[in-house]
Amino acid sequence: MILILPFDLTTLCKDIGLDLEGPMQIRTLRRISRVMHNGLWIIVAVILAALWSLALVFSSVYKERLISSSMRELVQLNGVVTQHTLALFKAIETDLHVVDRWLQVYKGDDPLNDPAFVAMINDLRDISDGLVDIRVISTEGKLYYIPNPTRKPLADVSDRTYYTAQLDPLLSRKLYIGAPVQSRVSGEWGIPISWRMQSPVAGLHVILAAVELDRLVAPHERWRFPTPGSILLLRDDGILLSRAPFDAKYLGINMLDEAALRTIFQKGKGTLLTESPQTDGMKRLVSVERLENFPLGVVVTRGLDETLGNYYLVRRIVFGVILVITLAALGFTALIYRTQKALLKTQRELHRQASVDDLTQLMNRRAFFAYADREFSRAKRQNAPLALLMLDIDDFKQINDRSGHSTGDRVLTLCAKAWMHALRGHDAIGRIGGEEFCVLLPATGPQASIDVAERLRKMTEEHINLEQNKVKRVTVSIGLAWLTESDTHWQMLLERADLALYRAKHDGKNRVETEAS
Ligand code: GH3
Ligand code: MG
Ligand code: MG
Repeated sequence: MILILPFDLTTLCKDIGLDLEGPMQIRTLRRISRVMHNGLWIIVAVILAALWSLALVFSSVYKERLISSSMRELVQLNGVVTQHTLALFKAIETDLHVVDRWLQVYKGDDPLNDPAFVAMINDLRDISDGLVDIRVISTEGKLYYIPNPTRKPLADVSDRTYYTAQLDPLLSRKLYIGAPVQSRVSGEWGIPISWRMQSPVAGLHVILAAVELDRLVAPHERWRFPTPGSILLLRDDGILLSRAPFDAKYLGINMLDEAALRTIFQKGKGTLLTESPQTDGMKRLVSVERLENFPLGVVVTRGLDETLGNYYLVRRIVFGVILVITLAALGFTALIYRTQKALLKTQRELHRQASVDDLTQLMNRRAFFAYADREFSRAKRQNAPLALLMLDIDDFKQINDRSGHSTGDRVLTLCAKAWMHALRGHDAIGRIGGEEFCVLLPATGPQASIDVAERLRKMTEEHINLEQNKVKRVTVSIGLAWLTESDTHWQMLLERADLALYRAKHDGKNRVETEAS
């Protein structure tokens, strides 16, 4: 038996105590080989499934870790920006308070051109490095620059919300942070922050801190993660006050239209993964932190693809390698499978050739003897009857001599076919010599077996002929023996059947003789 297996099966079988030479062991070995043959695909499939599952788990764990470490960095940056923004707004609040205080104690009638006031405002401008500019709004809603030598307003802002929001005297005084506006004077974008004075002084009512967006966004631009990473400043109602990278078209839109962001924003602090339909719809990691004391929140984002760049690369490599392994394993398995299949086929054919007689397709001598041996043991074990018939075609030499060897072959084939069909399913017939055959009749007593033998003899005489080859009549002599208690081996039965056959020949052929007669 030849097998191509991933290990030496012969050695394995010896190790587990299987002797490979006996017929039973050969069957066992063949069974093992068949199981291995079919099981090969299952084993390979299980291994590959495990490999893919492992890769999927690995990749999702790796992705989760990347995202959570990126989130941590994002939250850190958010903390920095929040602190920075808080400091800025506190400074603005302080500026506005100081200016208000100064004006409240002012005794003159033209504070905007008062050298001390102008000097203070200029100092505040310088300290903020141009980020914040202080202006004032009169009770009629006119905006004034400081100083104001011409005594003319910069613009009428009576319609701007940062002014109108401060008009209701019943509302408690607090900073009002307006939506970003483009200056009617300079065209620059700014965030107006207004403060209602304790009481109007010299016709002035509201102080305005104009925060220049350019300067506010500049540090954000340096700190933010690579595009599409961004840093946003949101008013509590969701209005976008500033955005790095700067893009005027997003300013003033409501970012809290998006439910997920709104939920986190309302909580005060948190992270999420989202694609914002308000802006460019890119997938981003988002960190949100609201400012204490000010109606503001800082949103810091980071592009998911930028975060997962490494992950995509590793995933491509890992899955690529596994794909190659899978294809190689499947190819290799297919090769082994095909080889195994061919070997099993050859094995079956060899087995067939070793046990089947070529000419008659009956069991050959070896196979019949092995079969008879087994049936003998079984009959002994079960104490069941067993009969053995030995058949020898009469004067077969003459048939050969007169009509040729091939005609002789045809006669053998015809007899084999006719006898085989005349027997029951569990009876066995084999060709044990040239024109000698044996029939084993399990569970068959003397009379029944005599009947079978007679039937075979008669049908040979009456039906087997090859008229066209000048074989008009074929007869057969049959010797019959039965299992007895003293039999220890089936060959003892064979010998008695042979003796009976001898007698049949001697007494005139074309007859059935039994051991008892
Ligand atoms: P008896 O009636 O006593 O049995 O005489 P017989 O001629 O049948 O017996 P014998 O043993 O003298 O001759 C058997 C012949 O069968 C001899 C052999 O050439 C022939 N023979 C054996 N095997 C084959 C075979 O496969 N094909 C053919 N055509 N002839 C065979
Ligand atoms: Mg013979
Ligand atoms: Mg003969």
